Amino acid sequence: MAGGNSDIEFIKKGKRLDGRKPDELREVRIEAGVLNRADGSCYLEWGNNKVYAGVFGPIECHPRHKQQQDRAIVQARYTMAPFSVNDRKRPGYDRRSSEISYITSQALERVVMVELFPRAAIRVDMQVVEAHAGTRCAALTAASVALADAGIPMRDIIPSCAAGKVSDTVVLDLNKEEDNYGQADLPLAIVPSTGEVVLLQLDGHLTPDEFEQAFDLAYKGCMDLYDIQRAALANRYGGSA
Ligand code: UDP
Repeated sequence: MAGGNSDIEFIKKGKRLDGRKPDELREVRIEAGVLNRADGSCYLEWGNNKVYAGVFGPIECHPRHKQQQDRAIVQARYTMAPFSVNDRKRPGYDRRSSEISYITSQALERVVMVELFPRAAIRVDMQVVEAHAGTRCAALTAASVALADAGIPMRDIIPSCAAGKVSDTVVLDLNKEEDNYGQADLPLAIVPSTGEVVLLQLDGHLTPDEFEQAFDLAYKGCMDLYDIQRAALANRYGGSA
C-alpha cells in the first residue's frame, strides 16, 4: 500500500467501491465465549475479516527470564492462517506477525491489571482465518473481549479501528483494495474511559489537517466498536452494554 495508485477512482458520487460512505464502518459482529478449551475467547467478523482470539491465564511465565517480579506480562501472539489470504501464506511467524504481536501486547498491558499477578503470564492468541485489511485492529478488538471473557481484571477494554486516505479523501476503516492501493492507513487503539491512545501507526502520507481528520474518524470508529464489544459481553453475561 501507500504508494497510492492514483489511477483507481475509489470514490464515485460520494460512495466507496463497496458502497460505503467515507465515514462508514464495515459491518462488525462480535461473539464472546466461543471456544471451550480457552479460559476466555472471542470470534469477530469485520467486513470479510474473520478472527478468533483465545486467552489462557494467568499462568506461570515461561521462559522464566521473562518473568517480572512485580507484575504479569501479556504475551499476545498474532498469526494468519495459510488460507486467510489470496496467495497461500507460509505458516508460522514472520516479521509482520512479530510486530503486530508486540504492539498488541504493549497495548493490552495498559488495561490489564498486571500488578495483581506478579511473575505470571497471560497468553492471548489471535488467529486470523480470513484477512481483508484491518486485521491488526480486528485482532486487538477481539483480544480485549476474550480477556474480559476470561475474567481477567481490566481497567477497560480496548477497541481498535483504522482510518486512511484514498483518492485524496480521508475515509474510515479501509477495505483490502483501499489498503493495498490507497494513499495512507492509520490504525488506532484507545482506552475509551480515559481517551488514552495505546496504539497509533501510520503507513503512507497525510498532511497535518488530514492526520487530524483521520485521527478523529478512527477515534469515532473505536467508540462504535466499543459499543459492539460491550454488547457482545452483555449478551453472554447479561446486564446492559
Ligand atoms: N496481506 C496478505 N498477505 C500477508 C499480509 C497481509 O495478503 O502476508 C493482506 C491482508 O488482507 C491484510 C492486508 O494485506 O489484511 C493489509 O495488511 P497490513 O499489513 O496493512 O495489516 P492489516 O491492515 O491487516 O492490519
